[in-house]
Amino acid sequence: MIDGVSLLSGLECRACCTLVEADRLIGVCPTCGHALLATYRLEDAPPGFRPEHWRTRPGGVWRYRELLPVRASRAIASLGEPETGVLPLADVEGADDLDLWAKNDGALPTGAFKAREMSVAISRAAELGARSVFLPSTGNAGVAAAAYGARAGVEVRVYLTEEARPELALACRAFGAQVRTVRGSIADARAAALEQEPGRGSIDLSTMREPYRVEGTKTMAFEIFDRFGAAGLPDAIVYPTGGGLGLVGIFKAFTELRALGWIEAIPRLLPVQAAECAPIVRALREGRSRAEPVPPPLEFVGGLTVPAPFSSERVIEAVRWSGGTGVAVPEREIRAAERRAATTGLVTGLEGAATIAGLAALRREGLLRSGERVLLYLTGGGIAPEVPWMMESAESTLPLRRE
Ligand SMILES: [Zn+2]
Repeated sequence: MIDGVSLLSGLECRACCTLVEADRLIGVCPTCGHALLATYRLEDAPPGFRPEHWRTRPGGVWRYRELLPVRASRAIASLGEPETGVLPLADVEGADDLDLWAKNDGALPTGAFKAREMSVAISRAAELGARSVFLPSTGNAGVAAAAYGARAGVEVRVYLTEEARPELALACRAFGAQVRTVRGSIADARAAALEQEPGRGSIDLSTMREPYRVEGTKTMAFEIFDRFGAAGLPDAIVYPTGGGLGLVGIFKAFTELRALGWIEAIPRLLPVQAAECAPIVRALREGRSRAEPVPPPLEFVGGLTVPAPFSSERVIEAVRWSGGTGVAVPEREIRAAERRAATTGLVTGLEGAATIAGLAALRREGLLRSGERVLLYLTGGGIAPEVPWMMESAESTLPLRRE
């Protein structure tokens, strides 16, 4: 097990400045209902705490334990998350004067970056005594929660939007989670959850409704720092955005590295949304501090389909404070980019493909300059569509549970 002790010091609400003790189960700010974020005693870091020390440990999510919230090693629910690869992208149309890279989270357990969130959030929930959790999902978050819940011995209920690929529901069940399919958007799935869950003593793992999923997403930035070093960090990170949790985590991680004195500049964060459902990009463009809900789109675009993101203020400030802004790309261009990427061997999922589709718009608007180092974040295509035993036996298999 990896050494190192969490420097977690508490939780804070940036909307109303309430501070909350961290070592009990809590969801949102008790004063105003906004998102809570974890704080760390960076000034109390042990003397040997340096980036070089991290690099003596196995790569992956739990390499960064000091800046993650789980205190006890035995509470860690891990499925062996690897440090995910970065690869140069040499032949992307219209980008040949960029130093272009992709980081591919498809290699994580359950096939997407959601493994980072759920490994950390479910470990922490279990450490604080949670026995069951629930969340609405368009697919990948639900599967990751189901897998890590199984690992941690925590009961998981997933309220899945009906547009999610059917194999994702089967995968959730195969991991032992209960699944309810809900007609409509992720907001409808959440409404269904809020009808069913009261009285069950369960923890709401919805995006930004508990403090620790965002801590897991920080490891995306820590790995980028590890791979490129302080001097070689990308100038900009292009990131596919639904609810925007990953942007909050990436910015938070870089801010913590800067507070430690390990980096100076923070890469510009450039979210890409589907034009059919782009509340965050719209707010960024219109100079507003929070996203206004948009009507649910007619076309489903996977994890990008979040018409009413919660605590969008945190997402928008992360992008603005990094010096970035967002672009929206039509769904058909995203689907075309996904197919184009496949011809180069890359399975991007719709979400990752949005970053490739977004490049042209970013170039057109002068948001990426010639010679810059640019990293496209491929958040992962999700669990493979062909897992035959899951398709055959999920309905009848009894979940295996630790006693
Ligand atoms: Zn508050």
